[in-house]
Amino acid sequence: MLDTHDLSRRPGTMREFARVVPAPADLGTAVIGIPAGTDLTVGLRLEAVMEGVLVSGVVRGTAVGECVRCLDPVTQEVTVRVQELFGYPERIHAAEDAGDDELADEESVLDGDLADIEPAVRDSVVTALPFQPLCRPDCPGLCSECGARLADDPDHTHDVVDPRWSALQAMLEQSSVTDETKES
Ligand SMILES: [Zn+2]
Ligand SMILES: [Zn+2]
Repeated sequence: MLDTHDLSRRPGTMREFARVVPAPADLGTAVIGIPAGTDLTVGLRLEAVMEGVLVSGVVRGTAVGECVRCLDPVTQEVTVRVQELFGYPERIHAAEDAGDDELADEESVLDGDLADIEPAVRDSVVTALPFQPLCRPDCPGLCSECGARLADDPDHTHDVVDPRWSALQAMLEQSSVTDETKES
């Protein structure tokens, strides 16, 4: 929550907000996110405009997650730009009264003098995070046979052939022999 009280509603009035705050909960997705309570570096500019208060700036933190291929921990610096207009409540109410529901729906509203930038920050962070985090772009993942990390042992193979598979292989070999015999 940002207090906009000292902006005094005069368009053109401006204030800088630079602080390190603890990250709120749920700042990310199921696979990667900025852990709650870790440092979030916030550098914002609050600017009074005709319609309300425009909040813009940069938020930075460190996301922690798991590689989707090998399950190794993944950490990633996240820097997002945030820009959100918080309308003065009476303006939104006036729009509602005038039947302009679109404006009322789309715009964030000041709660008294307070601007809740958390939803805007959350949206930007979630958008900036990888959909499928990887420990490195070419992570080979885990062996489907034994679960070993292929990055540790790239030449890793299993000679043991599934008995059902070897039976099928034998049949295929036999049929190809038969085909060749027919052709000649
Ligand atoms: Zn990986
Ligand atoms: Zn293996």
